[in-house]
Amino acid sequence: MNVVVCVKQIPDPADPGELDPETKTLKRDVKLILDESDSYGVEMALQLVDNAGGGEVTLVSMAPNSEVGGLRTALAMGAASAVLVSDPALQGTDALGTARVLAAAIQKNGTPDLVLAATESSDGYTGTVPVQLAELLGLPSVTFAKSIEVADNQVKIERQTEAGYDEVECPIPALVSVTAGVVEPRYPSFKGIMAAKSKPVDEVTCGDLGIDAGSVGWAGGGQEIVLVEEAEAREAGEIIEDDGEGFQKIVELLDNLKVI
Ligand SMILES: Cc1cc2nc3c(=O)[nH]c(=O)nc-3n(C[C@H](O)[C@H](O)[C@H](O)COP(=O)(O)OP(=O)(O)OC[C@H]3O[C@@H](n4cnc5c(N)ncnc54)[C@H](O)[C@@H]3O)c2cc1C
Repeated sequence: MNVVVCVKQIPDPADPGELDPETKTLKRDVKLILDESDSYGVEMALQLVDNAGGGEVTLVSMAPNSEVGGLRTALAMGAASAVLVSDPALQGTDALGTARVLAAAIQKNGTPDLVLAATESSDGYTGTVPVQLAELLGLPSVTFAKSIEVADNQVKIERQTEAGYDEVECPIPALVSVTAGVVEPRYPSFKGIMAAKSKPVDEVTCGDLGIDAGSVGWAGGGQEIVLVEEAEAREAGEIIEDDGEGFQKIVELLDNLKVI
């Protein structure tokens, strides 16, 4: 089974850099790393290929400055190869433009059995790229997967909901978006890190993918960032004094938060 995982490379959240005051977008001319959200998709893809007894995991990423930092981490986890789309014309590309670029990069090597993406990225997170990508690829889109099984040309997922999960099934090929925290992403081994250095990364431009530069970048954007504000400071937590019945208040609190 062949699985493509969309992998966004983002500035390190520990040192996220700055916003460009003019465009209100994040400056991405720093070293980029694998978005943690996507490490779950990579892990799930590796497990699916292992269970199928054959096939490969290929990564697809759009990032500036020929950045491969995050891709090398995912290759060290076990992915076989990557396609990187990097082109100055892509600066300012909005979510739909990103989906167009990723769709073209995926189609370059034919349609895989599954395309995985995270539900939302950690830096920009519109949460819209996976469904747009499914539409552009003409694939069914199954979202919020907390587990994935593939058998008899069907993909079956547990789709996370507020109250629990739904079981959803559809034929493959399909696009599945996965939620964070549902599998334990493996740590790359030393052997994996060394092997990743020589794994193929196919770097392509808009021209290579037949993408009209006017349909992406600032020129092709249908979205505009009108305002950016500081996030509100986090409020202090609630302290529950245990008077012997404290557990009931904790259960009530967790129930209200819908975590139990
Ligand atoms: C007007 C505008 C201008 C922008 N200009 C810039 C800019 O100049 N430079 C810049 O870097 N960003 C820019 N952005 C942000 C960038 O376009 C978004 O980050 C991207 O379009 C969608 O990412 P997201 O985080 O919203 O995706 P989401 O839908 O939240 O991501 C979900 C999943 O989709 C996949 N995915 C998303 N993006 C990528 C990617 N690039 N490669 C591989 N997989 C991906 C990943 O699996 C990800 O976890 C701009 C956004 C807007 C609206």
